Amino acid sequence: MGEIPHQHTRSIQSSLPKIPGLILSMLVGYSSSSEEDSEAGEVTATTCQSESCSQKLQEEDDDKEHFPAKKKPRIEKLVPQKRLPLPGCLLAMFPDEEDPHTENSSLHGGRIRSFKHERGNWATYIYLPYHPEEGFEELLEELLSMAGAKGVVLTPQEEFHLSLSQTVVLRHHWIQPFTQNLRASLANCKRFWCSAGRLKVYSNAERTRTFLGMEVSTGHAQLLDLVRVVDKTMTEFQLDTFYKDPSFHVSLAWCVGDLTEKMKEFLQELQSVIDEHEEGPFLLRLDCAELCCRTGNKSFRFPLEL
Ligand code: AMP
Repeated sequence: MGEIPHQHTRSIQSSLPKIPGLILSMLVGYSSSSEEDSEAGEVTATTCQSESCSQKLQEEDDDKEHFPAKKKPRIEKLVPQKRLPLPGCLLAMFPDEEDPHTENSSLHGGRIRSFKHERGNWATYIYLPYHPEEGFEELLEELLSMAGAKGVVLTPQEEFHLSLSQTVVLRHHWIQPFTQNLRASLANCKRFWCSAGRLKVYSNAERTRTFLGMEVSTGHAQLLDLVRVVDKTMTEFQLDTFYKDPSFHVSLAWCVGDLTEKMKEFLQELQSVIDEHEEGPFLLRLDCAELCCRTGNKSFRFPLEL
């Protein structure tokens, strides 16, 4: 069970009543009158596809026979001794939401995964969210249209953030201890402000994506303190730490491929849009009030002390 995301098992639990009790009982070979029994049903319904898995379940069944028959299977005699495969219509009721096995980069705007996707591996990163202030969206639109005119089509970020970690791969069963460790370590960290006003071009390690970002000008020291705390947790879980000499930034937009050199050619022109902003040079201000940890499709928040 260790590798089945909780959410997944929960969704199965909540779906169980939709299956007539008798049919479910016949499929799993147990009475569904107790929680324990329904747990056995969950395992069968979600993971019992392979030989080794059904063998493991069979061993669990064998173990149960060593105890008095408190919850004796009621209709065992009615079903064949060998487990029947679940009908496709039942399997389709429990889609594997977090672990799709198809890799289609067109579904992700042409982005390519930096690491192999495997069941039970959760892409995880830690960041400070940036909630756009007045004037930001208009400014971004102007920057993107100028870049477009230069032949570089940029896609704006769906949400804005300042990264405090690399994207690392966390095993599902480490999520809880990992976030607990992080929460404890961040307990005494104080809230602060930082600002950013200079454009810079970044690319990911694989050079498969290029980003237009705004680099932090004030708050660097406090951000380094936060990275030290995050890195400590990363190290304890044997995960990669952040850049030794990070360039803290908020990415504004991105494109596929390595267009670093091309974008540097007109970066100064983009910068002038920011510097000549109608009410004086635009300065992105980020209220560092809470850290967030995104792991798979789960999010955890870690508020900083006032
Ligand atoms: P982000 O918007 O935080 O995801 O950052 C965009 C990309 O910038 C990521 O793929 C980072 O790996 C990359 N990057 C490259 N150099 C640096 C650096 N010195 N500090 C922080 N991020 C960097």
